[in-house]
Amino acid sequence: MDARVLTAAVSHVGLIRASNQDSGYAGTHLFMVADGMGGHAGGDVASSLATQAVTAVADERFDSITVAQETLVEAVKNSAQELSDAVRSHPDLQGMGTTVSALIRYDDKVVIAHIGDSRIYLFRKKKLEQITTDHTFVQKLVETGRITAEEAIVHPRRNVLMRVLGDFDTNPDVDTVILETEPGDRWVLCSDGLCGYVSDDAVSQILRETTDAAEASALLVEAALDRGAPDNVTVVIAGVNETNVSAASRPILVGAAAEPLIFDTVTKRIPAIGGRFGSGTGLGEAETFATPDFLETIIAEDKERASRRRRRWAAYLAIPITLIAGFALWGYFWTQSQFYVGSDGNTVVIYRGVAGEVAGLNLNSVEQDTDIRVTQLPQYLQHAVENNIPVGSYNAALEVVSRIRNVSATQ
Ligand code: CA
Repeated sequence: MDARVLTAAVSHVGLIRASNQDSGYAGTHLFMVADGMGGHAGGDVASSLATQAVTAVADERFDSITVAQETLVEAVKNSAQELSDAVRSHPDLQGMGTTVSALIRYDDKVVIAHIGDSRIYLFRKKKLEQITTDHTFVQKLVETGRITAEEAIVHPRRNVLMRVLGDFDTNPDVDTVILETEPGDRWVLCSDGLCGYVSDDAVSQILRETTDAAEASALLVEAALDRGAPDNVTVVIAGVNETNVSAASRPILVGAAAEPLIFDTVTKRIPAIGGRFGSGTGLGEAETFATPDFLETIIAEDKERASRRRRRWAAYLAIPITLIAGFALWGYFWTQSQFYVGSDGNTVVIYRGVAGEVAGLNLNSVEQDTDIRVTQLPQYLQHAVENNIPVGSYNAALEVVSRIRNVSATQ
């Protein structure tokens, strides 16, 4: 395979954002994506600084994959120090941060370093697999079984990050793993401007149909634009061939890191990290860090959402239950407005209600016993009384009894 078609890096500001705070890099051995955040200018600076810090030391042929891993993880962690240093001399940038998802290829292995919600996918044998785990609040909810992966995609707090490189933490927790790779593999790195809006199935289809990395990455960005591209979109593709070198002759740098680094464009103060609570409801909502206070707020919010869901279900269930109960109650009161003339086995009796019972509930009671003995009645009346004579009202019952009394008197 021609090395030229193996590797690509594309970054697009998208259709809503005013500036591109993503950075992307496709080098000889190193590939990375960084998605900056932190207000008007901080995000550009954060992703640029991290990209420059990592590419400066990690795009090398190392002695072994473990040396590559140590160097890469160290470089990512050190870039957090760069952010702190920048904030010290430019306090307006306080609270800026960036995701980093980086990969070094070493023979038949790759090493990955990852923090934040950018992603690395492996496309192998026509199948796409997400390799990194998002360090997001919703991912935690998915892992603990509180919501499904589908619910996470539309969750109002899907932009809240649990881990990120920032000036506030000089020893960040970076995920790292060494994996096998083989000729034909394509490693796809992207910011959430792609994977947050273009489904894995759609990404997979584009990669299946387009082997050229430049073409495929352009199509992926186009897919995000077709879906409104509310966020910056960055895609880096690293194809694997039989040789050690995956890349074109010159490294490709895109997005914020490809622009001159300007610290002085901050026109509005970026609020300190603890105060940055995104409302998190709109499309293209900026990423937000989860400080402990904020985390408490959104966990409480999540609990409230769950209990709202339970209350809604209870309300749905209450409707048929109320209807059934109401109907049963109405039925019972109706029976209690009815009367019949029957017998207690000995004398003629006026009963309130209806004969028989429902679910163990007796639906009749003696309204008035009479002294008319059933055995004194002619056969046909005995039979009628034993089978009960329903009447519409108590007065009608008295009339029936009076007629029965007359008949019994003539016996
Ligand atoms: Ca983003």
